[in-house]
Amino acid sequence: AAVGSSPAMKQVKLEKESELRIEVNVNNSLRLRLLNGTAEIFGTEMPPENWLTFPPRMKFAIFTWYGATIEMQDNTETDYVADETPMISYVNVHAVLEGRRSRAKASAGDADADASQGPRVIVVGPTDAGKSTLSKMLLSWAAKQGWKPTFVDLDIGQGSITLPGCIAATPIEMPIDPVEGIPLEMPLVYFFGHNTPTVNADLYRVLVKELAQILERQFAGNAESRAAGMVINTMGFIDGLGYDLLLHAIDTFQATVVLVLGQDKLCSMLKDALKQKPKVDVVKLQKSGGVVSRNSKFRAVARNQRIREYFYGLSNDLSPHSSIANFSDLAIYKIGGGPQAPASALPIGAQPVADPMRLVPVNINRDLLNLVLAVSFAKEQDQILSSNIAGFIWITDIDIPRKKITYLAPSPGELPSKFLLMGSLTWIET
Ligand code: ADP
Repeated sequence: AAVGSSPAMKQVKLEKESELRIEVNVNNSLRLRLLNGTAEIFGTEMPPENWLTFPPRMKFAIFTWYGATIEMQDNTETDYVADETPMISYVNVHAVLEGRRSRAKASAGDADADASQGPRVIVVGPTDAGKSTLSKMLLSWAAKQGWKPTFVDLDIGQGSITLPGCIAATPIEMPIDPVEGIPLEMPLVYFFGHNTPTVNADLYRVLVKELAQILERQFAGNAESRAAGMVINTMGFIDGLGYDLLLHAIDTFQATVVLVLGQDKLCSMLKDALKQKPKVDVVKLQKSGGVVSRNSKFRAVARNQRIREYFYGLSNDLSPHSSIANFSDLAIYKIGGGPQAPASALPIGAQPVADPMRLVPVNINRDLLNLVLAVSFAKEQDQILSSNIAGFIWITDIDIPRKKITYLAPSPGELPSKFLLMGSLTWIET
């Protein structure tokens, strides 16, 4: 081929119940299409013949139940066909959940509130077990059948719904687009601010509880989403504090199905811990051999990419807006840290302790450069802790002499609130 011409094409034939696993090249995107047969990407059916473009670095699989042929550019990092997958066991779980949703729907309006509640599924396991992937599949299969299940993402490490450092929930009304991901219409988002819970586990628990309470209220007034239930994705942190937080999430969301991916020990620990709760099923599922391990470098790049995507869009299709504000127009806080009271105010011998839920005002200085701040929905300062957030801004300049702060926001216009939350989330434009 001539220099500069487009990459060679190839066709891949997939037998029934096999999948084509692909890692897109780091430097270029990948175009492919379903030539014939039927196939799905993590639970979402591929459109016949339409070309799809996958961004650099993306890792995914095209699975077929009945056989398919894929036409694709021959420029991936890797691609290979696997005929051993755990998809049958996953779709069997889906079938059980469907049954429970139908029963819940049939009981809508019953005096017994439990009967009208669809399955509350929580997916747990170590990092890179395929948790978010399984969550997406279960959601997409349910949406394909007309349900509107709620996706809850408690994984502050990556963020499938919004930015890392947040926990969030959103109804899934259509199978999830394999390229675009989850539509960001009106997600319910709480800002934790860090990508590991160890920084402030109490705050993490409070936010999880806050989110669960809001969803509970929404379900109470909406029989449709109540019957559809939820799928909850969790962190890969499963030891020590991580395990405690899993139990806390199971309890707080009143999960009825716990899907444990790829770890026997965790499964038996959870079975043991939950045996007093007959309404909770703990189910062990095999991890897919296709799940790709991502090292911490890759994760950091992925987090960075996620932030870029928030402001600029997946393919640079958004135009974020730069604004300037006076220091006095904004009130920036961080949550937790700092002594609760000065040592002089404490009884003799008592040590000042950090209050994890304290709202600490932040002085504006050059240290804020490159930080990503969350914009609270709070109208008053005392609402900040329990408020969800509207979105994010990125600090691009601090002018100390003129007391001006320059920031990037997804859209022009005034911020919905002057209350901003700071964590350790930063972004460097690359
Ligand atoms: P976890 O949520 O447990 O950390 P993910 O579900 O995010 O794991 O999976 C890790 C990576 O592996 C993701 O990039 C995902 O797209 C990819 N992946 C998952 N399953 C497959 C598969 N069957 N084939 C190829 N890639 C996969």
